[in-house]
This record gives sequence, C-alpha cells and structure tokens, in this order.
Amino acid sequence: MYALAELQERFDIDCLIDVHTHPFAHRSVNFSGVDDRDEINFVKFINENFDDMHYASIVFSQEEYEARYWRCEGGKTSASPLAIKTSTTGESIRNSKEPDCDFTRIEPELAIDGFLNRTALALGHETLKEIVGSSSVMIVGVGGLGSVIAENLVHMGFERLILVDDDIVEKSNLNRIVGAYWEDAEAARPKVEAVARHLGAIRPSVVVRREQKKIEDVKVDAEIASLDWIILATDNHSSRFAAQELAFKLFIPFISAGVAITVDDGMISDYSGEVIVVRPGDRFCLTCLNRLNPTKIAFERASELASAEQHTGRKETADHADLRPDLQRLKGYVLGANVKEPAVKTLNSVLGALAVEQLIDQYTGRTEQQPILVYERNKQSVIYGDVESLENRNKNCITCGIITNY
Ligand SMILES: [Zn+2]
Ligand SMILES: [Zn+2]
Repeated sequence: MYALAELQERFDIDCLIDVHTHPFAHRSVNFSGVDDRDEINFVKFINENFDDMHYASIVFSQEEYEARYWRCEGGKTSASPLAIKTSTTGESIRNSKEPDCDFTRIEPELAIDGFLNRTALALGHETLKEIVGSSSVMIVGVGGLGSVIAENLVHMGFERLILVDDDIVEKSNLNRIVGAYWEDAEAARPKVEAVARHLGAIRPSVVVRREQKKIEDVKVDAEIASLDWIILATDNHSSRFAAQELAFKLFIPFISAGVAITVDDGMISDYSGEVIVVRPGDRFCLTCLNRLNPTKIAFERASELASAEQHTGRKETADHADLRPDLQRLKGYVLGANVKEPAVKTLNSVLGALAVEQLIDQYTGRTEQQPILVYERNKQSVIYGDVESLENRNKNCITCGIITNY
C-alpha cells in the first residue's frame, strides 16, 4: 500500500519489482500457485491504474532465485523468465529456472590461442571466464587516459568494448594516446579509429565498437543497455555528467578516472589522480562527491551550442537566446576554461592501470571495496583510499539518493 501510494505521487518511476522470499526453501525455488494468482491480479491492477508502468517479480530461496517479467495486453496476462545480472561475481546468485539469458551460465572456451595463459595463472580460470564471456565495457573518452585503459582491458582479457569519443587525433595529443601514430594526426583520423585499430592489432578476436560522437548523442540500444561497466575517462565535465546520467538510467555501474597536473609559476604544485567506483545502490556519485563542477558543465554546454551555431551559420534563434549565457562574461568565472591542461603519459598510465585493477577486483573480490582511490606524487608518493570525501558527501543527493516518503 505504501509503495502504491508513493507511486501515485512520483513521475520518475517506470517499473515496480515485487520481491519476496520462500525462506524454508534451501536451494531450488519456484513461484507458488498463490504467487501466480496474486501477481496476475496485481499486474491487471497496475495495467488499469498506471500508464507505462512495468511489473516484475523475484522470489528468493536461501541460495537461489526465480524472476519474471509480467505483461498485460487486452486483459490477458503473460510472464517471461528473467535473469538478474550483478556487477560483481561475488554477488551472483544461481537462477533456479536457467532462462536463456542467464548470464552466469556462459562458458566460453578460454585461451585457445594462448593469449590469456599467463593472465589465467594470475586471476584463475573462473574469474577470467566471467571477464571474457559475459563482460562488455564502454569507455567514454579515448584520449591519453581512455586509450591506456582500453589497452589494459584488452591485455587483461576483455573482448567486447565500446569506444566513445568525437575527437580526432592531433599532434598535441600524440605524446600520450596509446595506439595513435604521427600519420593519424596528419590524416586527422578519429581517436576511436586509431585506438580500435591498435586493440585489434593486439588481439584480432576483440570486438570493438566505435562511436565517434559525444556521449550525449550515443543512441541507447540493446548492446548499450546490457553493458557491464562504463568507464569515464574524459576531463570534460559535461560529458562526465552525461555519462553518469546514462549509467544511472540503465543501472550500469561505472568507474570514473581522472588526472590533474597543476602548475604554478612553472613549478608543478600538484600531480595526482583518482579512480572512483560507483555501483547502483551504493548511494554516492560524482555529483554528491563534488566531482562535477556545475559552472563548468554550463560553460561547456553553452560553448558547444555556440560552436554548433557557428558551424551551421545559424544566428541565435529566439529559443536559444534565453538559454545561452553570455560566454565572454562566463569565461571569467570558469577557472581554466579553454586553457590547455598539462598532460603526460606516465601519470595517465598509472591511473589507467589503477582503474582497470579496480575493475578486475570487482570480479575477483580479492580486495576490500575502496570506492575512491587516490594517487598522489607530490612531496611523497602515495596511493590511498579517500574515506573523507565519502563521509563528507551531500547525503541528500537527488542524483543517486533514493527518496522515500515512509
Ligand atoms: Zn511466494
Ligand atoms: Zn549522489
């Protein structure tokens, strides 16, 4: 009743999932006749009283589960089996019904070509199977950091990647993009093409999808909706914001990696980076951790709008005029806007490797979960888990928070 009352007041929910247990069942579990009857009545009720509300149900025994998705068309109800996909191997629970889409049952042939022999010795066959067989990762931004991450992923055994970047290779980024050559800059080749070619040369069997566009423009299809991880490797605040939005919308866990080199009077005053792991339900995100600067997001979006207008030769239209802030004035407030940031490959390599290690450990469960991992190389070199940021985050975050009225 509480849930239904809340549903009527909310406009941001499009799916209701009914979860209950059969606590005396040890392993195999099935929906009972009572469950069937109740849920058929309930899906009819939902269908009559809510627009576009989806309904699914899960029943757990002590060790397994069964799940299904209900449809109601023209008064006729039907259910199809579902599988629950979790972001880490450790959280994976056996499905009693083994539907076609059971992600835990895929058993690929491993290392026929020898490529993964040494990795298998390190990670073990089970972990590697998980990575190879059922994992796909999208990397947003394949510049200095994203290209290192992509290369590390392929070397570690990941076989399905989606690269998103609308930029082309320039001479000024050849000092750090893995896989980009001098001729790529001369040919103004897209970064996604250069990096994808490199990955394919390392291991021909990897499947790399290229999206030469901004993350905001990437169309969500089945492949993207079923991604296992998204890795954010762009220094652009508005695309990081958009990537986070996408991840939350699709319930995909993500890893944000970033580097910073600050130079004052010709001297490096800060040389650091961090990796943040955000999984749905963790109750923190880049917004409440203060890792996204709203002024920068506004500035970047306005700049894009302005340059799009320049390209199309279109003058400010009436509906754009009030949306668009005065860029010149805004520039003064945004520290470092349009200023080329210093960037070196060594720092990218450290953080790129850390990001992939954080990801791998999600599969091995070997280390304690450290949501924010910081690398600093200033007076001293350290890697530490940033607990303080986590504790001081905004606890009423509307991006990742779950607001309940009861
Ligand atoms: Zn039941
Ligand atoms: Zn948040």
